[in-house]
Parts: sequence; structure tokens; C-alpha cells
Amino acid sequence: MLRKFWLLLITLTLVGLAVITFLLRAPTSIQIPPSTFAPRPDFDEKMPALKISYLQSGEIAGWEAFVKQGGNLLQRRTMPLGALWVQHPKGNLLIDAGLGRNFEQEWANAPWWVRSFFPLKFTRPLGDYQKSYPRLHEASAILLTHAHWDHLSGTKDLPSIPIYLLPEESTWLKNLKSPYNHGIFPDHLEAITERMRPIKLQEIPYENFSQSYDWFGDGSVVLVSLPGHTPGSLGIFLNVKSDQRYLIVGDALWGVDEDGKPESRSLLAEFFSDTDRTQARKTRARLRELVEHSNEITLVPVHDSKALANLSPHK
Ligand SMILES: [Zn+2]
Repeated sequence: MLRKFWLLLITLTLVGLAVITFLLRAPTSIQIPPSTFAPRPDFDEKMPALKISYLQSGEIAGWEAFVKQGGNLLQRRTMPLGALWVQHPKGNLLIDAGLGRNFEQEWANAPWWVRSFFPLKFTRPLGDYQKSYPRLHEASAILLTHAHWDHLSGTKDLPSIPIYLLPEESTWLKNLKSPYNHGIFPDHLEAITERMRPIKLQEIPYENFSQSYDWFGDGSVVLVSLPGHTPGSLGIFLNVKSDQRYLIVGDALWGVDEDGKPESRSLLAEFFSDTDRTQARKTRARLRELVEHSNEITLVPVHDSKALANLSPHK
């Protein structure tokens, strides 16, 4: 009897390990029909140079095999959490908000299954950057790549700044049924409801995107849609010069490889993180197509420390 029990236990353990290994290693890329590219944008010589700074507020340590399809099963990857501060003569912008001063309490209120997923280190709330960036509270907008907790918490430190997001994201947030599902914290939602400003993209093709929105009208900051991770995930082109162009991709990607091309996510990570897995794969394929076509563009996933270091030194 005891022998049978051990045999069953060993068999179940082996099957379990085989399933987890499959979910971590299975291929997750997708083919998409080739896109039509819009003519290369013309950059005015007088376009103001953007100044970009990264304001880190914490980090999480994920297993590389979970974060990246084909990643090392035994290695950890440290992923920073934070916001980008973009200075432009017509108005300074924040992209996302990282973690705020009340984050420890927000984290303590979250259910165990959210807190136990990855070990998290909270280092510096967004509001504390006010000393080194005195104009932070005068930002003209917070552009939200998506509404997950690690991007929204810091908005509470700057309560008067409007939050711009795609309408697909605001509609999704309004219809969410259960708190904490899909990485949304209810107290964050409550704090932003009154200042959400949906941005309608225009029918103006840009690179391989059919719609876009030129934020300042000078080609320096251009918004596009990157659906899949969440329904209204937003991509933000920051064009510093004609040959120095970044696309901030939020969490549509968690990392880029040595050539700057998108990493695929493990099947398990897709299951836990992407609201529409097929659409998220299509978006990653489109980003790959973009950098293959326009190699002056650098993709910047906001949890990829190497990609962020390309933008500016960490402060
Ligand atoms: Zn994130």
C-alpha cells in the first residue's frame, strides 16, 4: 500500500514538472501578414530635443524562464519599476508613475496571491523625486502605458495631474468586476477615476501602425496602440533626433535581446499577464517588424534595465 502511494506521488511530481517545463519552454511567437509602412516621418531641424530621465521606485526579481520564452530555468532577472520624466518646452510629461508614497500600505492590502508572485523591493516613491525634479508636480500630463499597479501607484503622489490613456483601457477599467484581478488595485482606480482622460488616436498611419496621435504636433512625442497585454496598452515614440528614436512599449514587452528585438514571453507568463494572448503575440510580432524595418528606433520595455539605461543614466 505504502509502495503504491510513493509510486503515485513520484509519478504525479514528474508529470507536474513536465507540465511546468512545457509551459516555460513552449514556443510563443506568431506570424503576422507584412504591414504597410507609412512614409518615414520628416523631422524638423528645429524640433526641440526631449530630455528624458528615469525615476526608479523599486524592483522585482522574476525567474528568467518565466519572463522570457527559452530563458534560463535557474536564473533570476531583476526588473525595475518606475516612471519616465520627459521634458519638452511645451509641457513636461510623465510616462507612467511607478510606486507612490502610500505603496507599502497598498501592497499590504493586496491579497497574498498578488504579493507572493514575485519578491518586491520598494526603494523610492515617485513623490520623493520632487526634490531633484522640482517641476514634477507641474507636469502637464501622465501618459499611462497601462493601468497595472506598478504603473499607477505613484499617480496618488501627484493628485492634480490629468492621466491620459487609451479609451479601450478606460472602458476596460470601468467594467472590471473583481478587485485585484488583472493586476488592478481598487484604491488606484478610485484615485484616478475623476482624472482619466481618454485619448482618441487619429486615422494617421505612423510607421507600421494604422493610427497615431502626435502629442505636441511637432513629431517629438507620438502615441500608438499596442493592445494585448491589456486592452488599451499604449506605445509612446520619443523622437529626440531623426536618428535617435525610442518607442516606450510599456509591458507589451518585458525585454529585448542583444539585437534590440522583442523577447517572447513564456506560455505561463502569457497566461498570467496578458489579457488577450493572441493579440499580445501579434503586437510583439509587429514590434519586431518595426525594428527590422526602421533600425534607428530603439524599443524600450519599461522593466528592462538595459533598455532604460540607453535613455539616460538612472537617477
Ligand atoms: Zn509592469
